[in-house]
Amino acid sequence: MSKTNILYQHGTLALLVPGLLDGTITMKELLEHGDTGIGTGEGLDGELIILDGTPYQVDSTGKVNIVSDDFTLPFANSHFGNYQQLTEVKDLSQSDLNKKLLTMTSSNTFFSTQIHGTFTNIKTRAVKKSQKPYATLSKTAEDQSVFQRDSITGTLLSYYSPMIFDGAGVGGFHHHFLSDDHTFGGHVLSFDGATGDVKLQQFDTLEQHLPTQNTDYMKFDFSDWDILGDIHKAES
Ligand SMILES: [Zn+2]
Repeated sequence: MSKTNILYQHGTLALLVPGLLDGTITMKELLEHGDTGIGTGEGLDGELIILDGTPYQVDSTGKVNIVSDDFTLPFANSHFGNYQQLTEVKDLSQSDLNKKLLTMTSSNTFFSTQIHGTFTNIKTRAVKKSQKPYATLSKTAEDQSVFQRDSITGTLLSYYSPMIFDGAGVGGFHHHFLSDDHTFGGHVLSFDGATGDVKLQQFDTLEQHLPTQNTDYMKFDFSDWDILGDIHKAES
């Protein structure tokens, strides 16, 4: 039986900050921990979204690709989907939706939401893959494409991390999107006018997996870095 109470995380956003961007888990391994998820590829190679066991990558040209089992990632979240119907929303802004979700759940544990529906506007980004030696996250992330669509139908997959775990996760919501016609998606910068069904899955356990086979990570000295400051700059 798959454990639907567990959120699995490989790597952390913190290790991306100084540029530890080696792919340290394969998609095949990641899918053993869930059929739903988000992440980024080696060298920040696009934005990943896993829906119903199928891993999609939105690359920096905006193209949506299905990735193979040997595709590797430095950072990912995944879990086995067991969502419960939460509510229906109509024409909600991003901030109103976030507020509504938090009043209906708790801000003190990890959870995921999925909204299937239409959005009056969504803005996404996808980063271009960089090669080793890697620059910092903020430098690498400068080479990103921003995409925008109006009246688009698709799935907004979100993970929420409690502020008290800021660092292991990034406190707050992290949204990825894939349109139903698979022509648009990525890491969501902003959205507006959400109309559709909201489903919720709450977790009581975070399984944090670290890349202990990666020498660069194991030997790295984080003491001189403002990791949290840089994360918030890169993710906002
Ligand atoms: Zn993302």
